[in-house]
Amino acid sequence: MKAQAISQFVKLYGREPKWVVSAPGRVNLIGEHTDYNDGFVFPMAIERRTVIAAAPAEPSDGLGESEAKIWSNANDQIGVVSVAPGVAPVEVAPNEELPWTAYIQGTLTLCAEAGFPAQPFVAVIASDVPLGGGLSSSAALEVSVATLCEVISGKTMDPVKKCLLCQKAEHEYAFMPCGIMDQFISNLGQPDHAMLLDCRSCVPEMVPLTDPAVSILVIDSKVKHKLTGSEYPDRRRACKEAAEILGVKALRDATMDMLNAAKDKLTPTQYIRAKHVITEDARTVEAAAACKANDWVKMGKLMYESHLSMRCEFQITCTELDYLIDLAYTKGVDGGVYGARMTGGGFGGCVVVLVKTDAVEDLKAYFFNEYKAKTKIDAPIFVSRPGKGSAIES
Ligand code: ADP
Ligand code: MG
Repeated sequence: MKAQAISQFVKLYGREPKWVVSAPGRVNLIGEHTDYNDGFVFPMAIERRTVIAAAPAEPSDGLGESEAKIWSNANDQIGVVSVAPGVAPVEVAPNEELPWTAYIQGTLTLCAEAGFPAQPFVAVIASDVPLGGGLSSSAALEVSVATLCEVISGKTMDPVKKCLLCQKAEHEYAFMPCGIMDQFISNLGQPDHAMLLDCRSCVPEMVPLTDPAVSILVIDSKVKHKLTGSEYPDRRRACKEAAEILGVKALRDATMDMLNAAKDKLTPTQYIRAKHVITEDARTVEAAAACKANDWVKMGKLMYESHLSMRCEFQITCTELDYLIDLAYTKGVDGGVYGARMTGGGFGGCVVVLVKTDAVEDLKAYFFNEYKAKTKIDAPIFVSRPGKGSAIES
């Protein structure tokens, strides 16, 4: 991607880039919809990245005095954004033709306001993180833009502040009320490690994931269900309401005993949503311990349980995702699969499968063929080791 970004930059702007930065997508191994409940998540950065190559604007670029111009390989579009502070979200929202620039504008504005202004620049974005596929291309974009602001302003941001700033950009400029997981792992991921993140303290614990005998397989179901847009906010609201009824700050502070004792006060929907979050938090902490102990059978079992909970209680899966998990379960440990679950926000996107490395090629063919036979969809499948977080490439 780096070479692609640089060569595209030279082609478009007729000169070499001065700065090259990047940030990865991520796969969440376990801990879904726990982040905004102050709970635990266990993601790893993947070896797929969003790279930005940029250089100071020149008069021939035709930009205003506080503007930047960015081309993305994802859509072959050019967007013009402002590098000045004070750009209000409402000024960005009407830009329906270039909605992707909202993530960039939000990050640039908040960076400028935090003392990390970018000078006017021209840039190319090259990414191999699939957009909208549940591997967090949005965080990869925000974090790479914030990293660009760091390198341009010649200063390093406090890492936690940087993650929170990127999250705020997504909240306020892209109108997506996401948790903090994606920005944390994209910024702070480390090779050979997954990250157990306590979303209340914002303190990440890096957990080695180095056993060469196991691999992480990511299968993109290619399904993007048309949502009304209310599913994610609805889930968030149900969790908040359940926490209020239980008298806790967030569901992270609740136990199954507390939930069952209050069952009469909750609607059936609030009960099952809260049950998912409470049990998922426990599974996530257990899975990180299993990973530390190289206990892949245990970790795989927790992944299946997580999927079942997302399917039946949080109700965020779909038939295609469920079918991929059934395929994994049918193979079993003897067939090289320890466990599998949907990953990401839900209703489509990817599944993550914990597999034996020596079975990877057979399993890729198995999943591809069986899924295609059932759905007629060609599912992209790839293996990733835990990759590095955001980086200044040159
Ligand atoms: P996910 O983060 O799971 O990929 P989101 O819906 O949160 O899905 O974010 C995807 C959106 O982020 C895209 O529709 C686009 O607006 C923006 N985006 C992400 N990466 C890029 C990129 N490389 N170029 C342009 N837009 C991007
Ligand atoms: Mg996203």
